[in-house]
Amino acid sequence: MAIVGAGIGGLTLAIALREKGIDAEVLERSPELSEAGAAVALAANGSRLMDRLGLGTRLAWHATVQTELVYRNGRDATRITAYPLDDRYTEMFGSPLYSLHRADLQRVLVEAWGLPVRLGADVIGVEQTEGEALVRLASGDTVAADLVVGADGVHSIVRRLLAGPDAPAVYSGTSGFRGLVPVEKLPSLPDPSSIQSWLGPGGHLLHYPIAGGAVINFLAVVDEPAEWTEPAWVAGDDPGKSLGVFDGWHPAVAEMLLGATPQRWGLFAHRPLRQWYDGRVVLLGDAAHAMLPHQGQGANQTIEDAVVLAECLAAQTIPDALARYQLLRRGRTRVIQRSSWDTSAALHLPDGPEVVARDEGLRHFPERFGWIHTYDAFAAAAAAADG
Ligand code: FAD
Repeated sequence: MAIVGAGIGGLTLAIALREKGIDAEVLERSPELSEAGAAVALAANGSRLMDRLGLGTRLAWHATVQTELVYRNGRDATRITAYPLDDRYTEMFGSPLYSLHRADLQRVLVEAWGLPVRLGADVIGVEQTEGEALVRLASGDTVAADLVVGADGVHSIVRRLLAGPDAPAVYSGTSGFRGLVPVEKLPSLPDPSSIQSWLGPGGHLLHYPIAGGAVINFLAVVDEPAEWTEPAWVAGDDPGKSLGVFDGWHPAVAEMLLGATPQRWGLFAHRPLRQWYDGRVVLLGDAAHAMLPHQGQGANQTIEDAVVLAECLAAQTIPDALARYQLLRRGRTRVIQRSSWDTSAALHLPDGPEVVARDEGLRHFPERFGWIHTYDAFAAAAAAADG
């Protein structure tokens, strides 16, 4: 089996397949494994799977657990609503909510995989015959496999080959600025051990602690530009003008934004795809269902995909396994994609009656979104196999 991409999805799949006695080769375009971006939050639906793959202790060692989930008015810091996390989150959803540096998560996965990843392997094409799939690399080499898994991220070439040029990632009209700031540079920040969202017209700021609380990871999202014209999804422009939307907000917000030099990330999502596989080629993770980060679920859904695909492949022939994988994954990811997209606009509302309704909705967060966190992908795959 060939896995295109050594991101969170590709590496988790390789580990989950090995648990089932299935060999895989991981092909990665980059010449070295280095994780761009700042931190990632693994919710209960992701952390319980990591634990079952035997990675729980290593993950816990790198991870930070937050004390509360807090929504605040960005300008006066009023707490709109708050929920206790730490042990109470674990009790409610059956596994911890972890935050950690992306490089640490990647290190845990790479060490657990333990085998070489084929670096500098830039996949430019996949062809299929009846008996096998052939991966073409930019170097001219080919790799033959019984199945090719496209785990090559939001701008996936495998997705383009499978779904055609009409299924590109869609720019959301919002940009994210990510950064890491030492906590001592944030003297005005209330509740630094919480995961918090500061909301206001035209923007919001999300942050949570990593490195045992010594560092705060933030994502500031603004409604611009209207169109994305950059060739890459990271632009090196001066963020000063864009971040002007936060002028007049609480001093903790200014301290955070001035504490780092964030780059602009265009925030993209896919429209839901009807067909996730064709013959011996299948999609996983962001390649299948890139979503906006506002439910904190992109990586978690990717991990769920990996576990379910491995379970299906261990139990059935490739055609049956791919059909069952799609059945198990497409509906769930579609709802979360949609919900993340809708949340984007709600977080940036101008002052007015819609804000009152939005804030009321935030007060019912566990009832509305608990189903995402309680989900057990191993159990779902096992139940489908029994049924
Ligand atoms: P990726 O991690 O993107 O990996 C794809 C890999 O494929 C890369 O290594 C790439 O180099 C390689 N590749 C690409 N093309 C080729 C090719 N042609 N040949 C070979 N290799 C190739 N998710 C969460 O769950 N929690 C969060 O808190 C969270 N925060 C986020 C914040 C932001 C601002 C953003 C943008 C995303 C966030 N996400 C979060 C989403 C999460 O990062 C992604 O969903 C996740 O990384 C997807 O994993 P993946 O393996 O599918 O793709």
